Amino acid sequence: MQAGSAHSVTAIAPKTDILTRKDIQSVKYPRKINEVEILLARIKNLAVVVFLFLLFLLPVTVGGGEHSCMEVARLFEGEKPLEWGQEVTGVITSFDPGDAMAVALTFDACGGGVKGNGYDGELVEFLRKEKIPATLFVNARWIRSNPDIFAELASDPLFEIANHGLEHKPLSVNGKKAYGISGTASPAEAAREIEGGAEAIERASGKRPRFFRSGTNHYDEIAVRIAEELNHRVVGCSVNGDGGSTFSPKQVEKQILSARPGDIILMHMNRPEGGTAEGVTTAVPALKERGFSFVRLSEVLK
Ligand SMILES: [Zn+2]
Repeated sequence: MQAGSAHSVTAIAPKTDILTRKDIQSVKYPRKINEVEILLARIKNLAVVVFLFLLFLLPVTVGGGEHSCMEVARLFEGEKPLEWGQEVTGVITSFDPGDAMAVALTFDACGGGVKGNGYDGELVEFLRKEKIPATLFVNARWIRSNPDIFAELASDPLFEIANHGLEHKPLSVNGKKAYGISGTASPAEAAREIEGGAEAIERASGKRPRFFRSGTNHYDEIAVRIAEELNHRVVGCSVNGDGGSTFSPKQVEKQILSARPGDIILMHMNRPEGGTAEGVTTAVPALKERGFSFVRLSEVLK
């Protein structure tokens, strides 16, 4: 028994037997360094793996839109548009109200320059106070200049965010102009104008928009089909509410009061110096008194 135990101790720990205390102390310090080095190396390896993974992910997330733009553009290469304007084939200008006395208020935020990037806080506060829902067509440039206000609007359930394009260009496949502004010049450019706006909204709000209105609200019918292929419905208007923010409060009021059930009213929320807020403030309560209600586009356009 005894001989057996002694034998097994030497067999299990033969090396410990020959190491002195000094030997053990001398290896302790280097061992600690080794552990730290191993840990650092592991962190480095992990960082490289994470970096490579992100590098792989980047073209998938950022370039994904670019990729689908090119594919969609190819579908329409060589097609010749026959129509140009605000009411071309495929543009929705009103909705079926059913039995409801409903109208849709839509406000564009066009972006570009000091005036284009403005914010009509008075108008928005009025809508909030009166609980009037509205659809806001927001351009990517406006989001860049007003990130905090955009986040606030996008998280307010009273409002629905829609796509007003990347560079606020008229939507054309061959460079047609509106009010002196050159439109997109090819199917690929038209697709980029739509998809770039959608991506800016999705990045800032986490939600992809369903509706598109181009800068100047001008289109050809091929460009409208490109928007549809990119999962947008193109929405113009049946009532020009503020004449591109040039109308006086009285003119805005008159336009809004002319609305019939099913009308889509186009106004602006980026020009506080215009007559829009004042016109809305007087006309909306008057419409309510007549029995009208207000809807966001997704409630009435399926
Ligand atoms: Zn605009």
